[in-house]
Amino acid sequence: MAISDPSKRLEAIPPYMFAELEKRIAAKKEAGIDVISLGIGDPDRPTFRHIVEAMREAVGDPSTHTYPSNRGRKEFREALQAFYALRFGVELDPDDEVMPAIGAKECIYNLCFAFLDAGDVALASDPGYPVYTGGPVLAGAEVALCPLLPSHGFAPDLDAIPAEKLEAARLMFINYPNNPTGAIVPEGFFERAIELAREHDFLVVHDNAYSETTYDGYVAPSFLATPGAKEVGVEVFSLSKGFNMTGWRCAAIVGNADAIATYWRLKTNVDSGLFDAVQLAGAAALTGPREPIEEMNALYQRRRDLVIAALRDVGVEVEPPKGTIYIWAPVLEGHTSTSFAELVLEDAGVVVSPGSMYGPSGEGFFRISLTTPDARLSEAIERIREHLA
Ligand SMILES: *Cc1c(COP(=O)(O)O)cnc(C)c1O
Repeated sequence: MAISDPSKRLEAIPPYMFAELEKRIAAKKEAGIDVISLGIGDPDRPTFRHIVEAMREAVGDPSTHTYPSNRGRKEFREALQAFYALRFGVELDPDDEVMPAIGAKECIYNLCFAFLDAGDVALASDPGYPVYTGGPVLAGAEVALCPLLPSHGFAPDLDAIPAEKLEAARLMFINYPNNPTGAIVPEGFFERAIELAREHDFLVVHDNAYSETTYDGYVAPSFLATPGAKEVGVEVFSLSKGFNMTGWRCAAIVGNADAIATYWRLKTNVDSGLFDAVQLAGAAALTGPREPIEEMNALYQRRRDLVIAALRDVGVEVEPPKGTIYIWAPVLEGHTSTSFAELVLEDAGVVVSPGSMYGPSGEGFFRISLTTPDARLSEAIERIREHLA
């Protein structure tokens, strides 16, 4: 055995399938070609000014310099309570129904280790955020993929999940507004998920990364606003996308107190909490003005419409998404997700994400992120029009 050999657990993660695409991107760049990436979902605009100012002040306060408590600072927990009440009409007890997380990614990963054993099943959306499958596999459990299809509003068909998977299920990951499909929650879906969780005793984990990033007047609900949600579920709320805070690692888990206590028990063995200054900045974000959020959404909506018009011109028809920072579109006929991504790279020097990156049901689709600065995005759009029409 070599010193660099990975554990069996790590080996069980499927190898990165897009090494070929990465290689081609690197080769293009080496050849001096100006490659524009529309692949990554990471806001291009800075964190809102009032949040940065709150952080400046917070780092000057020595009370933020010691180990934080994993349960979280009172200011942060109360800011979440106030935000959830005002924004979603959801009542939370800041003492035991709110806990900070070092990003939604950490939280989802740790939930897998807190709740899953060998033989247990996690129900995961396909396509979906990669940690919904990587987390359970690393925890030694099994994943049951629930396809998100356009014909079903990109929601899992809960009545099609095999009985034996439901019996073994301990977690179900859902996410609306949805990455990568841009879909919003279909009417009645949260209600049905709660019923199923009650029947089969599993915890619903709603990944709420995009509730603040919506368009055309759509206002996204919290999962916890659905009656009965708190009895069977938690919501992971991230400040990353909605507040341009991806680098800050600021999120929270809210909802079922017993489930949060179990997460806390795992977490005390893994990390030492979220930097108190980041919690204070997060509190400022949650209680601050909404105008910067509205401005970001107006910007993304404008970019969304530019991209959709260009795609239409090259024969790709897609409904404008009502939320998230992504456009999820079918590839041109005769292509797979990867062959299409390779075509766009070869012909236009533009990187799009192959849909199959997000799970087998993503095959036949590609994803474009709206987080590229205007001038670069316009250039990418022009090239797509010119070379793919
Ligand atoms: C970006 C994203 C996350 C990551 O959130 P962090 O708080 O930055 O870890 C989680 N879930 C989904 C669906 C995302 O798109």
